[in-house]
Amino acid sequence: MTLEEITGKYFVKHEKVHKYPVPSNCNAKRESEKLHTTIPAGTEKCDHCFELYGTKGG
Ligand SMILES: [Zn+2]
Repeated sequence: MTLEEITGKYFVKHEKVHKYPVPSNCNAKRESEKLHTTIPAGTEKCDHCFELYGTKGG
C-alpha cells in the first residue's frame, strides 16, 4: 500500500466533488467514479463533505 492509498481522496459525482471515504453526513456513494488525490479544477465542492465542522451557528 502506498502513502497515496491511505490518504484522503476525492471523486466527482454529478459534477460535485466528494471526499472518499465519504463522511457520514453525505449520502453520496462512490461506485466506479475515478479517485483523485487532489480536487479537480473547475468542479463544485459537495456542501456535506466540505462543510466546516464546529463553525455552524447563527
Ligand atoms: Zn459529499
